Amino acid sequence: MKITQIDHIGLAVKDLDASVKWYEETLGLKASGTETVESQKVTTVFLPCGEGELELLVSTAPDGPIARFIEKNGEGIQHIALRVENIDEALAGLKEKGVRLIDQEPRYGAGGARIAFIHPKATGGVLLELCERK
Ligand code: ZN
Repeated sequence: MKITQIDHIGLAVKDLDASVKWYEETLGLKASGTETVESQKVTTVFLPCGEGELELLVSTAPDGPIARFIEKNGEGIQHIALRVENIDEALAGLKEKGVRLIDQEPRYGAGGARIAFIHPKATGGVLLELCERK
């Protein structure tokens, strides 16, 4: 598996508009568009920061994964995404090593990226996303 960079850091927020406003007005970042991924009950906004990005995540439903995360942990860092050259190869390698995965196969995330999550039980409590962009 070849990891090329930290792709983004996912931040769970309650109020997307207020968060975007804070990052734009206070830190001078620029939001690069809003996207809703219905299958994940989430709306995301990416804020590019040089080579990496921040991904703000707000739940679109009370039972969505982001709503449940906030219920348990409060707002804050929800996941870290590592960019890989080839996600199929990366997943095959992890399966070979017996690493517990949330996604056995890649799926499409925001921005058309192919993504898959590694289970936090396998990583010492960090939800890691693998992300392949073309
Ligand atoms: Zn992400």
